[in-house]
Amino acid sequence: MKLLVMGPPGAGKGSQSKKLVEEYDLTSISTGEMFREAYKRGEKLGIEAMEYIKEGNLVDDDITNEIVYQRLKKKGPDSRFLLDGYPRTVKQAEALDKMLADIGSRLTAVINIVVDYDAILERMVGRRVCKSCSETYHTMFRPPNVEGVCDVCSGELYQREDDKPASVKNRLNIYESKTRPIIDYYKGRGVLVNINGMQSFEAVYSDIKRALRELRHD
Ligand code: ADP
Ligand code: ADP
Ligand code: ZN
Repeated sequence: MKLLVMGPPGAGKGSQSKKLVEEYDLTSISTGEMFREAYKRGEKLGIEAMEYIKEGNLVDDDITNEIVYQRLKKKGPDSRFLLDGYPRTVKQAEALDKMLADIGSRLTAVINIVVDYDAILERMVGRRVCKSCSETYHTMFRPPNVEGVCDVCSGELYQREDDKPASVKNRLNIYESKTRPIIDYYKGRGVLVNINGMQSFEAVYSDIKRALRELRHD
């Protein structure tokens, strides 16, 4: 199974991807997460990427394509993977097609999580992330047992710099102009599945699973 999960920032891609990766035993390729991890480790890639990220801008296409290519290439044609947050531009989608052709692979499904504008804002501003293990919470919709503390590892929860109001609007504008056009790119190939994200975590997940069962996959 080779999945791509897309949707506006805050739609629930990360939350749903985590469950899919566990249930179907997939390699997770989340470009946002890869940049944040590289930043935490103090690597040049992460430090450069964070300059774009904290303002809500997209990281350069060539840099982003390269880190995905390195991962995919290593995994080879039989790999099972889930791409979360990549591609985000038509140029990246074209690059991904080339990479997959290169390793003799193709996508099983493109899952597009559809959420309305107000919910996106609400989800983004309430998001909290664990500094140690990256587990994601929400102040209202998925609060931790103890405020500010991760249920999984007792790490400290923080608000991502790009989830603060100053960057949020920019991210949504960029999504509309750069990322939304990708939906059309995948439409008509028979792999695009629209999922109603305006439901509970569990209901969204079961809709995704139903859609996957209805598709033929390898
Ligand atoms: P969200 O979960 O809110 O959609 P991500 O964790 O996927 O956010 O990404 C965080 C930030 O990392 C993005 O706003 C962008 O700056 C950068 N980023 C992630 N993936 C890409 C990509 N494919 N191309 C360019 N920038 C990216
Ligand atoms: P994305 O990766 O698309 O940016 P996340 O999975 O990080 O989105 O979710 C954004 C925020 O919204 C998180 O705080 C998460 O806990 C919350 N969230 C995700 N899905 C739902 C849902 N179905 N209902 C309520 N809150 C949700
Ligand atoms: Zn944690």
